[in-house]
Amino acid sequence: MVNSLKQNKDSKRKKEAIEFARAAHKGQKRMSGEDFIVHPIAVMKILEEWGMDEDTVIAGVLHDTVEDTSVTISEIREKFGENVAFLVDGVTKMTKVRAGMRDLDTYLPETRDNFLRLLIATGADIRVLIIKLADRLNNMRTLAALPPSTQKKIATETLEVFAPLAERLNMGRLRMELADLAFSYTNPKRYKELRELIDERVKKSKKKIDKIEKEIGDLFKKEKIKYEISGRIKSVYSLHKKLAKHNQNINEIYDLVAMRIIVEDVTSCYLVLGILHSIYTPMNGRIKDYIAKPKQNGYQSLHTTVITPDKDVVEFQIRTREMHEYAERGLAASFYYNEQKLTESYLTGKIQHLPTNLLWITELQEAAAKLKEGKKVDIRKLKINLFSDKIFVYTPKGDIIDLPVGAMPLDFAYRLHSEIGGRAVGVKINGAMKSLNTPLKHGDIVEILTSKNQTPKESWLARLITPHAKQKLRQQLHQIEKKD
Ligand code: MN
Repeated sequence: MVNSLKQNKDSKRKKEAIEFARAAHKGQKRMSGEDFIVHPIAVMKILEEWGMDEDTVIAGVLHDTVEDTSVTISEIREKFGENVAFLVDGVTKMTKVRAGMRDLDTYLPETRDNFLRLLIATGADIRVLIIKLADRLNNMRTLAALPPSTQKKIATETLEVFAPLAERLNMGRLRMELADLAFSYTNPKRYKELRELIDERVKKSKKKIDKIEKEIGDLFKKEKIKYEISGRIKSVYSLHKKLAKHNQNINEIYDLVAMRIIVEDVTSCYLVLGILHSIYTPMNGRIKDYIAKPKQNGYQSLHTTVITPDKDVVEFQIRTREMHEYAERGLAASFYYNEQKLTESYLTGKIQHLPTNLLWITELQEAAAKLKEGKKVDIRKLKINLFSDKIFVYTPKGDIIDLPVGAMPLDFAYRLHSEIGGRAVGVKINGAMKSLNTPLKHGDIVEILTSKNQTPKESWLARLITPHAKQKLRQQLHQIEKKD
């Protein structure tokens, strides 16, 4: 385990935290019938596995105490210090915001953008999001104990919010586990089908993988390259998405089973690539050097797809251990590699060494630091969007509505209620009258104006982009036709 290097698993503070949580949750049970304490301890273990610092791990075991027991934040502050208290408070706020989206009215009264409030409330320390993700991971792993209707709801939310959030934090392995678990509840039949398909594929390619492993292993040994090799299997959910793109033809997906080679340093990465190309034929356009040119999310690796003399197509990823840890654990890995630097810089309010796609975190922290000092923050100037394919807009009451990018006011209206959609005559966006043809933007506050005399119009179909709204409008048009 990587984390054992830095963490004394049985530190006195950690033990105290476990006992504190155990006493607080005493008598509480989970739906499964287990003692509640099993959950916070599991969350703590996940955070340890991710290599998080001690404060975060302690906050992990305490994360439900303020929300669900009589424990107060000041007690936690007294016993475990300011940092732990801040983290637990952040997780509690986040839970509340997600539950009602209305509890933060005293926080940032100058904006009704609850999503932004949520981020800023927690964003002074991104570790709050990481604890929340560990919490969600344990809840997903134990979802079987809940009634089916709740399972679907939580699984859907996981696919829509938490898996993408993990991706935004570059936590690839977590995103994969969350998405696969969720998918097994949202679409159990398809999940089973694809699982079987993958297993069958893996069995089929076992022989060819063994042969290749031996072939290249001999050469690596000759060159004295220390390496680890593994067959990499695509996750069920990403296979599902990829198949949809490729007209369900599994034969078009080369990298279903691919191989990953982990070596000690960057020089060895290129050496390995050279060796592979000397014995196999590289496919045109399939060589990618993400070491010299990392992906926007900081991902580094060499990729190549080759054809073996047996005419097998094999995809390789070649990377160092550090690159591998980062690819799998993302932001959490930065904590491990930069722990000292990062933890200190959190307290001073600034992170360095972040890949460009995580720079929003710095922006968030600056905003949060200003607020803490009582300074004003121009919310509208923040360009924070965690979900590139989604926007979040708000009702005048502050309820959050998520829509795809490009959504129109009528999509929003139909999402609220078909009646509101069908009777819409105009829209106010951020307090100003706008045409119903104005695409909505992230963070907009949207108010639909209705009239009793309005009826749904067929021409609206062209203005809608969400299937839900189109379906509701078609139903309404059909009703009108029947009446006539
Ligand atoms: Mn929890």
